[in-house]
Amino acid sequence: MAMHVPESPPSTAGAAGYAAAGPVRPTPGIALTITDRRTTDLRDHQSTRQTGQRSEDGRRLEPKRLYRLLHGHAAGHGNDHAFACMITSLCTGGGALPDWLGLEPAAFACLLRYHFPRLDLGRLPVVGRSADLQRADEIIELVALMLRDKAGDSPSEVWMAHVVAAGCLASDHLWQDLGLWERPELTALMRRNFPALAARNVKDMKWKRFLYKQLCEAEGIYTCRVPSCEVCTDYHACFGPEN
Ligand code: SF4
Repeated sequence: MAMHVPESPPSTAGAAGYAAAGPVRPTPGIALTITDRRTTDLRDHQSTRQTGQRSEDGRRLEPKRLYRLLHGHAAGHGNDHAFACMITSLCTGGGALPDWLGLEPAAFACLLRYHFPRLDLGRLPVVGRSADLQRADEIIELVALMLRDKAGDSPSEVWMAHVVAAGCLASDHLWQDLGLWERPELTALMRRNFPALAARNVKDMKWKRFLYKQLCEAEGIYTCRVPSCEVCTDYHACFGPEN
């Protein structure tokens, strides 16, 4: 596979790997029972967003408010914050992930139940960003790369691999495409979910570049024009600030 840092729209996450989600069972869709006031608030916001009108109390769907609702339902798992950021960004027009964070709807429902029990987002995670099915093979390779070195501590690692892979197909810095607040959150989630893989990024290479370079090297493809990064004219494309 040729080294390819994408400039095109994001793609779908493959279906493989969801079975490894362990005790969390898939559900047909995301229509969960409204059981508390916080969920009702989300329904108000969803209606507001779809109709372009304000809800009865005049509130709009604001990132901070949505994040607080997610945070308030968090189960206490390692990826709670990262997924709360991603979901918030997706639902409020940020990041570049496709609908459902690039997951199948049933897998997204599993993720939501595992990380944010009793929270119903309705169809908020559907913002009309379609996946690029033509790049499904790329997703599968990226997911396989990450899962080879997953920590093995949580079913959430499988969802994270698919979501990160979906973000790789967008065109900005990976942490931005994922809808995270800042770059260190991406580094932290890579170390938490795929520690052996993350440990190989010894020079703090930009994560998207790093992942594609790993794919190329795994297949014996070397696209670098010089043997040392320090003398490479593309240095700033691979390293340095990601702001
Ligand atoms: S800086 Fe140059 S040599 Fe180093 S990984 Fe990037 S393209 Fe390859």
